[in-house]
Amino acid sequence: MAETNDRPKAMLERWPVRIRQLQLLRRELVTPRMLRITLGGDEHVGFESHIADEHVKLLFPSTEAELGRIPVADGDRLRWPKPLVPSRDYTVRSYDPQAGEVEIDVVMHEHGVASTWAREAPIGADIWLAGPPRGIRIPAEFTWQCYLGDETALPAIARRLAELDASVTGLAVIEINDDAERQPLVAPPGVEVRWLTRDGAPAGTTTLLADAARTIEIPSGGGAYVWYGGEQAAIKPLRAWVKAAGLGAGEFDFTGYWRRGAHGNQLSARDVAHALKHLLHIPH
Ligand SMILES: Cc1cc2nc3c(=O)[nH]c(=O)nc-3n(C[C@H](O)[C@H](O)[C@H](O)COP(=O)(O)OP(=O)(O)OC[C@H]3O[C@@H](n4cnc5c(N)ncnc54)[C@H](O)[C@@H]3O)c2cc1C
Repeated sequence: MAETNDRPKAMLERWPVRIRQLQLLRRELVTPRMLRITLGGDEHVGFESHIADEHVKLLFPSTEAELGRIPVADGDRLRWPKPLVPSRDYTVRSYDPQAGEVEIDVVMHEHGVASTWAREAPIGADIWLAGPPRGIRIPAEFTWQCYLGDETALPAIARRLAELDASVTGLAVIEINDDAERQPLVAPPGVEVRWLTRDGAPAGTTTLLADAARTIEIPSGGGAYVWYGGEQAAIKPLRAWVKAAGLGAGEFDFTGYWRRGAHGNQLSARDVAHALKHLLHIPH
């Protein structure tokens, strides 16, 4: 069995962060609870799209004061005047430089500045988009890959599966509200796609993903990679599962995409510690 240090590692890649003012061009339902918004405008020029799970921050200023606090370029980073303008993270579902269009798939839920804006903003409304700042590069040596997530991770998983080499094997396990939320996914023939439905239970309240994960046998010896995006609470049991299978830093990436009862990216001190350890490739 290859020593953990000799095995392939997924790497976080970073890019210069830019801010741009775009407009809402159109919206369309992908499924009953997934709304695709298309953003465009003159400032799309120079936008870069690199990696399947990259995200942008969408900014939602709603007052003159907030409009005056839109972040400003500071070299390859942004300077964010305080108090911060409300913002939420969203995956770049696609970018078409010819058409000048960025597509974002937004999960509809009861309340929230982002889901409300996606549903109600008039066509032509301004929106500010920061990033993408980073994404995870998964080397070709990972011949078995497993993607787990709820609807919020579906844009990243869909894009990743479509970009995988045809020889990759593994599976994608996606938790959705009900069968109407299934989307046709393009994936290599050796990657199985499993849908788990909550059947009426609120998002973020079930153990469906962790229960399903425990039935999956992760190949040993290196070359196996596991990714998760979704509600924060699933991370603890999933981490226990991959660690029991012998995966180390760089062989799995788990991100809390949202937290039940919290707005946006309100992270706990523990989350921040995990994120730092992850960045530094310290086992955690
Ligand atoms: C890197 C990254 C990429 C992401 N990509 C996407 C993406 O492509 N598409 C996407 O839809 N989301 C994505 N998310 C998740 C998204 O940022 C959060 O769901 C965000 O909280 C939504 O903002 P909001 O303003 O609508 O709701 P908030 O104001 O943040 O929350 C309001 C209330 O709704 C709850 N809530 C938030 N999200 C959900 C949900 N999905 N289902 C049920 N209840 C919820 C909160 O717990 C809170 O109680 C991503 C997150 C990260 C970190």
